[in-house]
Order: sequence, then C-alpha cells, then structure tokens
Amino acid sequence: MRKLFTLLGVTLAVSLFNVTTYAAEAKEGEKAVTEEELVPAKEPLVVKYTPIAPSPAKVSVKALADVFKDAGLLSVPLQEQNKAFPNGGGSIKSVSIRAFHDGAYIYFLLEWVDAAQDTIVLISPTDTIGGGFRDSVALMFPIGKYAVIDVAHPFSPRMGDRDKPVNLWHWKADWEKDLIAGGLVDIASAYPAMHDDFASDEYILAIRNTLYKSVSYVSGGVAAGNIFSLPKTRSVEDLNAIGFGTLTTQDHQDVAGNGIWEGGSWHVLITRPLITSDTNDVQFIPGGDTVFNVAVWDGANGDKDGQKSISLSWHPIRIEMVKYE
Ligand code: CA
Repeated sequence: MRKLFTLLGVTLAVSLFNVTTYAAEAKEGEKAVTEEELVPAKEPLVVKYTPIAPSPAKVSVKALADVFKDAGLLSVPLQEQNKAFPNGGGSIKSVSIRAFHDGAYIYFLLEWVDAAQDTIVLISPTDTIGGGFRDSVALMFPIGKYAVIDVAHPFSPRMGDRDKPVNLWHWKADWEKDLIAGGLVDIASAYPAMHDDFASDEYILAIRNTLYKSVSYVSGGVAAGNIFSLPKTRSVEDLNAIGFGTLTTQDHQDVAGNGIWEGGSWHVLITRPLITSDTNDVQFIPGGDTVFNVAVWDGANGDKDGQKSISLSWHPIRIEMVKYE
C-alpha cells in the first residue's frame, strides 16, 4: 500500500510540475494585451432616453420590437478568442446592438446570425443529438470610474484585470429554455430517448414518483443553493471577473433577459435597473458614459467558456439624459 501511495505521489508531483510549466508558458505568450486593444473603438453606442410604460411584459423581445426600431445602433465585428487557452470561436462574424433606457431600466437588444438554435448545454459536438453546446451572449462593463486609455495602468478589454474588475451579463439559451419550462427543463423531455432501468418496475416507480421526484432530496446542487441547479427565474447570469479564469457568479442577481431564435438569427434582450444596490455591479447614470465589450458563443461550432467570438476593443457607450417635458 505504501508503494502505491509513493507511486501516486510521484505521479501527482509530475502532473503538478507539468501543469505549472504549462501555465507559466501560457501566461507569458497569451495574456499580453497589445496597445491597440487598449484604445476603445471610436463609434459609441448611444443609449437614448425613451420613456415606456413600466410593466413586467417589457422584458420581452416582441413587446419591445417597435421601441428598439428607434434605438441607438452599433454593429460590432467579432473574431476568434485567441489569447487565453483554450482558444476558439470566430464563427460569428458580427453582432448588432441596440439600446435605450426609460429612466429606470436600461435595455439592450443583441442580434446575430446563427443558422441553428442550440439550447442544450452538455451535448458535445461529436454527439448526434443537437450537435453542439448552447448558444449564448455576454456583455461586459468595467466597474466604477475607469481609465481605459491609461498607458501606465492598461485596462484589458478581455476579462478585466487585477484591481480592475468587470461586471458581466451572460444570457444563455439553455437558461431561457429552463425559464420557458417553468424553471427547469425536465430531464425526460431534454433527453426523450434516454433509457430508464426502472420505468417498468411498479415498486420502484412508486418510490420515485414520491420521494425521488423531490428535487431538493435528490439534487445536491439544489441543496447547496448552486445557481446552475436551482430552477431558473431569469435567463441572464450576473457575474464578475478580474482576469482570465476568475469568472464568479454574484450573490446579487440583477439582470433579466429574453431570447428568441427567428429567421436564422438570435434576438436577445438584456435589461437591468440603471442603478442597483450591489457594489459589484456597473452603474449607469443618465448623462454619463462608460465602455462595454461583447462575446458570442455558437454552440454548434463547439463554443464554450473561452472558445467564443469576441470583440478586441472596448466600445464607448453614452447614456442620454432624462428629458422632462
Ligand atoms: Ca448584481
């Protein structure tokens, strides 16, 4: 037994050494930010002030379609994420972004061409069902007062940096599907061809239909309060990051959304109050400005995590003043 432990120890040590060596190499070559990236794009996204009647129904792409026709518009070119391992993405060439605010909430509409809607998170591209991971889109904002064009303290437009945290809003097609299903898609409807050993055993069925249908009993994730296991109440996750590999979900989820796939494109609405009580959130002050960045994942292309289509620079965003008439 001692020999086995020793062997394991050696194996572990070798593995750790390899990981350390690799991480050091990856960090050197991949994390550097070019000076070009630190200069924001010139064209701003103008967030017009457009008062609309407050209603829960306004968290809907369809309900706000007419309002968005007059909203500020910016088309953002995208490319492969090529700096942090694992690289990937690049199949989505651009995303169009419209935005307005009503004095209380800010609304973004993100639209991009995608031939197929991918709404299941865990199917690998080599599997035949679905054929990919889930589609998603994220907006990213610096928190607090920023100085993007500050050569002494450059601010990466990728995932933030140490002492320069960012707030990310990540809409996900699978969360949208859960939301439509009333919180969670039932596993039997997600995987209709799945084999069930106990489906014909009446005794076990009786137990399953009572005790085992208790999600809180059978799911450790739910018991632990894991946001991925809990029934969904929104389709957008509110997150923070301070660089690659630091993405963290927030305790205070403030962002809502609605995404529909129609005519070979995704149309995703993301909305949040202009101001929140969360110190980890970006705050939008009418009359003020900040910058944002965007990333799109194409599930059918195998996109997940760092494998995504990204914009290489910050984009200015100007929030119009509230107008009183
Ligand atoms: Ca928040």
